[in-house]
Amino acid sequence: MYEDDPGFPPQVNMPVPHPVPHLDTHPFPTAIAGNAPQPDSAGPGTEAFRYWVAADSLSRAGQTWGPLVPTGTQWHPQVGRALTAHLNAGDDLNAFYDRRGVWFFRHTVAGVTVATCESNEIVEHETGHAILDALRPQLFDTASAEAADLHEAFGDISALLSSLQLESLRTAVLAETQGDLERSSRISRMAEQLGWAIRQSHPNMVDPDCLRNMSNSFFYRDPVLLDPGGPASMLSSEPHSFSRVFSGAFLKIVAGIFRQQDLQDQAGLAFAAEMAGQLLVDTVVAAPVVSAYYAQVAGHMITADQRRNGGTYGPSLRSAFIRHGILSLEAATSLTEQEMTRRSAAIADMAPGGDDAQGLTAVTIQGATYGITQPLTLSAPS
Ligand SMILES: [Zn+2]
Repeated sequence: MYEDDPGFPPQVNMPVPHPVPHLDTHPFPTAIAGNAPQPDSAGPGTEAFRYWVAADSLSRAGQTWGPLVPTGTQWHPQVGRALTAHLNAGDDLNAFYDRRGVWFFRHTVAGVTVATCESNEIVEHETGHAILDALRPQLFDTASAEAADLHEAFGDISALLSSLQLESLRTAVLAETQGDLERSSRISRMAEQLGWAIRQSHPNMVDPDCLRNMSNSFFYRDPVLLDPGGPASMLSSEPHSFSRVFSGAFLKIVAGIFRQQDLQDQAGLAFAAEMAGQLLVDTVVAAPVVSAYYAQVAGHMITADQRRNGGTYGPSLRSAFIRHGILSLEAATSLTEQEMTRRSAAIADMAPGGDDAQGLTAVTIQGATYGITQPLTLSAPS
């Protein structure tokens, strides 16, 4: 299988052998619709190869997040016992999660069939949506820009952390970045092949060398004030675009925790990735869903580190959030002891899941503004 993505033509990645993955594992059992082909039967571009890349990625995402989530975490009730992947859902350059499963499309561009299930990063991104939905269902369809944006960031973070599960990729990325994980690398560049395919018809909609890059310097602006769309080089309020503010900070957090390790080796990088993921899990379960959600998440991550590590990684967290404008310098330095204690108690009490609208407020708006005859009722953040 591939380790992270097919790569963009002609710079395709080399497939590597992996053990046959197990899908039906606790706490995130997955399944693939249809019959399982024989492993080892074929190479890239065949259905059997696509099946086993998808299976490996589903399994790796589950193994990445499984040890980090609170006891009792399970898929959203509408998903059922196992999350089912549909590998050929139609002709499109797309993939998505809904509460019936994860759906992967394919489309032929310039003679290359781009099947999104053949990219580990895309499969791990969509599985990330399902895992965040299991932890915090309130984020799934809240009428809030920053909740949708965090969902997209969490998807890319899921791909990043799943890549960093592999010792071979940890070693490769340390060589590629010369130990500075903030740099653009194979693991910061998301979905190179899908990015290439979209670029053939929409050259400015994606990055020049991938779909999105977590190695970026996008600075927080209130998304409500941004354009609803635009070229990839600019920040817009479109959720995938705005997600880069948070995912960019997260890459810097992994890089910062890594720099704080005694040994700057692949084992130190494995620890940094796991710790950053753990602090994010602690946070998303406990942080209230408010309109300024990015800042809320940032404050809780600093508290989660205080609680778990006595604040060891506070400097890395503060620096990353300040550099992306998610926290102001004042806010990052003025989290009071009392506020930390209050947030820490919320993290200690955290329980995953809960009612879809828990903590949210029902708001009714007139449909006429949008050409609809009836009023619309939305779940709004506090
Ligand atoms: Zn997504």
